[in-house]
Amino acid sequence: MTWTNWHVAPFVTSVFFVLGVLTLYWASVSWLKRWIHGHHWEITDRTIETWYGVLYMVTFTFSLQALVVGQTYDWQFMNFQLMAIIFCGYFLSDRVAGIWLFPTVIVFMIYNHSMTSWLSWGHTVTLCVLFWGLNIAYRKWHTRRLAPVIYLAIIIPCGWLLWYWMKLKYQLSWRMLTLQWLYLVVFAILLYSYVIMLTRDSELKQRLKRFASHDSLTQTANFAAYVEVGDCWFAKCKRTDQPLTMMMFDIDHFKQINDTHGHLAGDDVLQQVVATVQTVLDETDPRIRLFRTGGEEFNLLFSDYHLAATQPIVAQIFSAVNHLQVVADGLQIAPTISVGVSELQGVDHELIDLYNRVDRNLYHSKRNGRMQITSA
Ligand code: GH3
Ligand code: MG
Ligand code: MG
Repeated sequence: MTWTNWHVAPFVTSVFFVLGVLTLYWASVSWLKRWIHGHHWEITDRTIETWYGVLYMVTFTFSLQALVVGQTYDWQFMNFQLMAIIFCGYFLSDRVAGIWLFPTVIVFMIYNHSMTSWLSWGHTVTLCVLFWGLNIAYRKWHTRRLAPVIYLAIIIPCGWLLWYWMKLKYQLSWRMLTLQWLYLVVFAILLYSYVIMLTRDSELKQRLKRFASHDSLTQTANFAAYVEVGDCWFAKCKRTDQPLTMMMFDIDHFKQINDTHGHLAGDDVLQQVVATVQTVLDETDPRIRLFRTGGEEFNLLFSDYHLAATQPIVAQIFSAVNHLQVVADGLQIAPTISVGVSELQGVDHELIDLYNRVDRNLYHSKRNGRMQITSA
């Protein structure tokens, strides 16, 4: 094995090439997702994966074609390019991937000078059938046990037909057609197994991440998430001179609720208080974040809100929780809350400075008879 003589069969190098292209996609899309979430932009993982995946695979397909365009063997990389299409059609089965297929194929035909060949049009139509077939198969059956069989049942005949068009166009031998078709099937199996393996891994990471940042009783973001989001928003608002307001509330006499009605009834109250607050946020501004920072203590962060602008929302939350009736063991529990609110000021150097002021306001509400709002 030297720089000039690479004694490895082309099929073996092809296998590692396909795996390498996928690994690079996975590593770069993971980095991109981390970067986007680090900035707290509201884009879902699925959208990032789809858009980036389509862009990545289109670049890959055209770059490969640039190496052979205009040559007699310009079909050389077709199996790799089919992998890109299968990947987008099956694994990125969002609508966006479908919308881009047809225009991309037309641009590819122009680029490849094949618009006038009816064989190329036959190839294009087969490609669209393959793509849509995979798209539908993923949406309807990807969780079924038979999913890999359905996946192959679409690829095997479409793949054969695609190579048959190539046989006619380039006068390939039957042997070559069969060989390329078999390579395609092997690559497709490899692609499926590898992507499923990577997806399982990333789903597990997602679950662990959610577990670490959410409270299991109420499904709200927890203290760790508060620190992460709070620090990030604090730094951003300081840097850009944007307002930031914090609201804290604590359920009044909660120990008494536990002592009178039992711990389970207390848990019920916590869950219903969270659901009530979240409903108000969903109806007013879902960008406002709610965290459970302590046992019966909660924190809300209003990014881009001055104190005055938060007042109607704070009042709505206050009123909604104070009107809540939780039924436990046939008895009605009517929880109330005490609230503290404040906004970011020039003297605040860290999130804790704002937090301490809000906490003092909350304490003031408690000392003054509870069930009230103190903002300053
Ligand atoms: P205050 O009005 O001054 O806030 O009084 P309080 O009784 O609400 O406050 P205190 O700090 O004395 O008691 C809080 C109680 O909350 C004590 C703790 O057992 C209870 N608690 C904390 N986490 C949970 C939980 O997850 N479930 C239940 N049921 N109770 C909890
Ligand atoms: Mg309390
Ligand atoms: Mg408390």
